[in-house]
Amino acid sequence: MIAFVGAGPGDVDLITVKGRKLIEEADVIIYAGSLVDSAHLNFAKEGARFFNSATMHLDEVLDVMRIADSRKEKVVRLHTGDPSVYGAIQEQMDALEEMGISYKVVPGVSSFSAAAASIERELTLPGVSQTVILTRKAGRTLVPEKESIPSLATHRASMCIFLSAGQIPSLVEDLLTSYEPTTPIAVVYKASWADEKIIRSTLEHVVEDVKAEGITKHAQILVGDFLKGDYEKSKLYDKHFSTDFRKGVQ
Ligand code: SAH
Repeated sequence: MIAFVGAGPGDVDLITVKGRKLIEEADVIIYAGSLVDSAHLNFAKEGARFFNSATMHLDEVLDVMRIADSRKEKVVRLHTGDPSVYGAIQEQMDALEEMGISYKVVPGVSSFSAAAASIERELTLPGVSQTVILTRKAGRTLVPEKESIPSLATHRASMCIFLSAGQIPSLVEDLLTSYEPTTPIAVVYKASWADEKIIRSTLEHVVEDVKAEGITKHAQILVGDFLKGDYEKSKLYDKHFSTDFRKGVQ
C-alpha cells in the first residue's frame, strides 16, 4: 500500500493526524525535499528508509514504490501542501494502477490556506468575492490559453497564485489588465516556515517591494480586494438570520 500524504505547507505540526500516523508506521518514506521539511522524518520509526524525490525522476520513484510494495512494506509518499494542487500525483497514481499496486491519498493543508492564515485574511468576503482562483503563470509547464492570467483577472475574484514568484513583473502586468493599480497584493514567502516573510503591497508597488526582499521562489501571491478592510458581515452569524441549527432573533 502506498499512501500519498500531504505534508502541509512547512511547519511540521500542520500535517493531519492521519498523515503523522502513516509516517510513524512507514517502512519507506519518499519525500519532496525541496518544500517538505526533513523534520517530518524525525517521526518515522527506527530503521525506516528515506528517499528525497527532489533528486529522483518518476521511474526511480516508482521503482522504490514497486520494490517496497512487493516486500509488503508500507510506503509514504510525502508531498508538500495538499497533493492535489500542483503535486504531480496523478501520473504516480495512474502508474500504480497499471502495476496493480493499491494506494490512498491523505489530504494536506495547502500553502494557499497557510498564506491566508499568515496574513490573517479571509479569501471569501461577502460583498467582495465569493470565488477563489488557484492558478499559476506558465513556466516550463504551460497553462492552457483559456486560463491565462489576463482572462482569469477579468473576474477580479480572490486569486492565489502558485509557482510564479520568479515572474512578478509580468504577472503584475497581466493582473493590471483588469485589477486597479491600487489593488492590494500579499506575497508570502515560505508560509509557516521559521524564515517566513510577508510583503503587503499594491499592484503598482509590489515589483519593487519584492525585489527589495530578494524573493524569487517558494511564495504564494495573494491578490484581490479581500485584502482590503471593507466587506459585508456574513449571513451565517447574523443574529436575525435563521439556519438549520439556529432561529434568528426577530
Ligand atoms: N501542493 C502544494 C503546491 C506545490 S507547487 C500546495 O498545496 O501548496 C509549489 C509552489 O507552492 C511554490 O512555488 C509556491 O508557490 C507554493 N508553496 C508551497 N509551499 C509554500 C509555502 N510554505 N509558502 C508559500 N508558498 C508555498
